[in-house]
Amino acid sequence: MRDKILKEFKKELLDIYHLDRLSGLLDWDQNVNVPSGGQKARADMMSCVAALKHEKLTSKSFKKLLKTALLYTGTRGGFGKDDSFIVLRTAKDLKKIEKLPTKFVAELAQLCGESYDVWKTARERSDFKLFEPYLTKIVKAKREEAEFVGYDNSPYDALMDDYEEGLTCESVSEIFDELKAFLVPFIESIQNSNAQIRKDFLSRKFPIDKQMEFCKMVIQKLGFDLERGRIDTSVHPFCESTHMSDVRLTTRFKEDDFFNQALMSLIHEAGHGMYEQGLPEQHFGTPLGYSASMGIHESQSRLWENQVGRSFAFWNYFFRKLKETFLIRMEGVFVEDFYKALNYVEPGLIRVDADEVTYNLHVILRFEIEKDLIEGNMEVAELPRIWNQKMEEYFGLKVPNDAQGVLQDVHWSGGSFGYFPTYALGNLYAAQLFHAAGRQIHNLDLQIAEGNLSFLLEWLRNNIHVHGRRYEPAELIMKATGGEPKPVYFISYLEEKYKKIYNL
Ligand code: ZN
Repeated sequence: MRDKILKEFKKELLDIYHLDRLSGLLDWDQNVNVPSGGQKARADMMSCVAALKHEKLTSKSFKKLLKTALLYTGTRGGFGKDDSFIVLRTAKDLKKIEKLPTKFVAELAQLCGESYDVWKTARERSDFKLFEPYLTKIVKAKREEAEFVGYDNSPYDALMDDYEEGLTCESVSEIFDELKAFLVPFIESIQNSNAQIRKDFLSRKFPIDKQMEFCKMVIQKLGFDLERGRIDTSVHPFCESTHMSDVRLTTRFKEDDFFNQALMSLIHEAGHGMYEQGLPEQHFGTPLGYSASMGIHESQSRLWENQVGRSFAFWNYFFRKLKETFLIRMEGVFVEDFYKALNYVEPGLIRVDADEVTYNLHVILRFEIEKDLIEGNMEVAELPRIWNQKMEEYFGLKVPNDAQGVLQDVHWSGGSFGYFPTYALGNLYAAQLFHAAGRQIHNLDLQIAEGNLSFLLEWLRNNIHVHGRRYEPAELIMKATGGEPKPVYFISYLEEKYKKIYNL
């Protein structure tokens, strides 16, 4: 009986995961392939699949099966440790999900599917007014969602919990206050520094086919398996996976902006991709074969992009290859110049183009705005004004138009409120993990400088990837690094690196 129940339960769960990954595939396809005329039809399809998944998960038959399976957890002669975890974790997830009516889930997916194209057009025309009615509906729906799910203090907590379990406005504010207190004067001292950094060579023209060739070589060397993954192009780089053996990365190419647009974005996405490829395959279709959280996911991408991809050690190895591939275009450039150029700090309008020092300020700004929107302290119509005001306050920059301001990110069109804070957490986790890896791997810096990157990937595989969702994010960081997540590692990482670059 026990084995029969388990088999049945896992089969049903696998079907639900297939539907979940199918949504991911439709989303990937929407961003990579679907022509603008096909967006409406795609929204219908996405809504249908979202509803199917929700219906299946919240169906009477699945709940009954889950209830029976729960009887076999934590008892002698019951399920083993892994299977018990899978059942208990699913029960916990379902408790939250079943609070949302299927009709609401389908309508939200439909609304978001349609909003994506409107946002895209609004951004192209730099016209917030076009997007405003859709965003108003989305914010209203997300407020409703928070009410359905329930919360203790802020409705925004209910939304953040989807991306990072247990995250609250209170805990985020505490971290962000500490970050802000460090970042604002630190950025000021960088801006006042008299260090001369040339970066003219970054905007030289690099042929796109050669860019692709170089990108592929780099991410393979990092450990991304192209037999189990692929690279495409999209407006916003991202990573989507249908299975550990089918992980898709996207990037974008611009002839005169090779490094920041294509290469560093792809290294970032490859970090996400290697995490997906490293999840335990035998647990596919269960929480143990799924990533721990968005913050943990982002820690993997940021670690490869920044701690590794923007380090001197890394370029000590790859700069030779860069010169070999691009010969004349890198003439007269030394690795020291290149390293500094790649780490040039400059407050800018666009989050995805931001350097690693100013990046978190972009996240803090979005966190404050989202919280106010969801708590009802701000209306959508006020957004551009408040956005621009905060940009001036935090970055000293005037926003010339909505495209470079409030319309720059895709997230809100997809209803992803509460997602942004995980980007900053990812930066903090990345620094803490890299610090711990550095203590455990002998001569890590030297290994990187010699192009031996497999030790680091193996460390991440053993300490993060292999666990799937077994631990909550903070617990996972604790296990991997020996300490609870704290901003101090990130702060000292920035201090050490940028004091040298900027002679502070
Ligand atoms: Zn990312």
